[in-house]
Amino acid sequence: MVSQSQIHELHFILVPLMAQSHLIPFTEMAKVLAHHGVKVTVILTPLNAARFNIFLENAKASSLNIEFLSLRFPGQEVGLPEGCESFDSLPSFNLISQFFAATNMLQKPLEEWLEESESLPNCIISDLCLPWTTEIALKFKIPRLIFQTTSCFSLLCSHNITSSNVLEGVTSDSQPFLVPNMPDRTEFTIAQLPKGMRKSSSEFKNLLDKLKMDGLLAQGMVINSFEELEPKYVEEYKKVVKNIWCIGPLSLCNKISDELENGNDTSIDEYNCMSWLDSMKPGSVIYVCFGSLCQMMASQLVELALGLEASNCPFIWVIKKGDYSKEFENWLVDENFEERTKERGLIILGWAPQVQILSHSAIGGFLTHCGWNSTLEAVSAGVPVITWPMIAEQFYNEKLLVQVLRIGVRMGINVSMDNEEEKDKVLVKREDVKKAIEQLMEEEREERIERARKLRGITKKAVEEGGSSYFNVELLIQHIRGQVTDHQAM
Ligand code: UDP
Repeated sequence: MVSQSQIHELHFILVPLMAQSHLIPFTEMAKVLAHHGVKVTVILTPLNAARFNIFLENAKASSLNIEFLSLRFPGQEVGLPEGCESFDSLPSFNLISQFFAATNMLQKPLEEWLEESESLPNCIISDLCLPWTTEIALKFKIPRLIFQTTSCFSLLCSHNITSSNVLEGVTSDSQPFLVPNMPDRTEFTIAQLPKGMRKSSSEFKNLLDKLKMDGLLAQGMVINSFEELEPKYVEEYKKVVKNIWCIGPLSLCNKISDELENGNDTSIDEYNCMSWLDSMKPGSVIYVCFGSLCQMMASQLVELALGLEASNCPFIWVIKKGDYSKEFENWLVDENFEERTKERGLIILGWAPQVQILSHSAIGGFLTHCGWNSTLEAVSAGVPVITWPMIAEQFYNEKLLVQVLRIGVRMGINVSMDNEEEKDKVLVKREDVKKAIEQLMEEEREERIERARKLRGITKKAVEEGGSSYFNVELLIQHIRGQVTDHQAM
């Protein structure tokens, strides 16, 4: 094992995609690496750095060697509105290409910073979707690792679907097909796949090919998952990518999503939220939150509201600012919805302290869009879930939760929300919401809870000293240290 004195001068730079669901695990990883004696610099932009101020102050107060390098985000040069420095702050998904254009422009200032640095960092850990970090790594001869904010189950699904060409034999988007070479029987339809995997979207396919090439140039992958969660999938994926280090769940090592200065956009403070939960019976409340990205139409929100009301189950419902249209606000007021449900419902407008809420004993279930961070947070808290996947790899995560881990019930969605024909449809009706909540709270409840609690215990062990994720962080550091020594010896 590498001793603290040997590793204390290693320096890693972390380059995240500017999106909450990437920034949070990246900063969590910074803290974990710093705890293991590594100096860490996280590359951010001014608004994103400001949001993580409390995190940085807390890290410094604990003597952790973490710095932020804040690079100006050239959003206005590419036509983004002022103040848009993260994916989730975009007013529309139509601005994605401008967002990536601005992100790519961070390459130059980062290179300038490296050129001016007294010594180069020993390792770059960057997001898969930032291929320019590969160019930097090659130019400055710094080992680069990719950070995956997803599971080995997802990675293996994607790999096996693309490498087998199985989609060529599938005749319609709704025809179920079997993913080849998976350890368990795994079926999807094309309509459920991430946009880049669907046959029709050639532009995304090209991007995917580029990212794949990029992956091959990296030395390995750091994955926010843990071995005991998906042992067969970790083992199989190691046959695809030799160097992988599962070091998660990072949210369990920290509570960063609760430390965010979210522009502090929230309608409730943490204290009120927790005291509301204190007043509820153990295991009785459904927590409803769909992450930071997916946008919902007012008509869909209305169906959800009516379904929550009809279920008679206490709920906390987080509605993000981007979803809160005038149309929906009017509906809430006209219907007097908050007043009608005030005995057992709490609506949070904006950002909620999710990790903290999930760990409260009053929470009995989580209605989730199956983003990977939310998935891991549910597993870590031992909370059973209702799955409502929307886009990207969320249908893979649903499969893991429902079929492999067996701690979830499906809402029953069969198409990705970014499918052209589906995007303006109400996909979930109030009856579906009511039925799914009843199913979660009543059918096979004890068995599901037991499995979820067992997972919580396993998860906690993985990140503790001596646990698999803790050990993998040490191995990862050793891997980089080995190269420093080789280099110095030359
Ligand atoms: N999150 C939070 N409060 C909110 C909404 C989201 O703390 O009100 C956090 C959540 O805990 C998770 C992240 O934001 O860490 C969302 O990531 P995920 O991968 O689940 O979804 P995405 O945002 O990518 O859709």
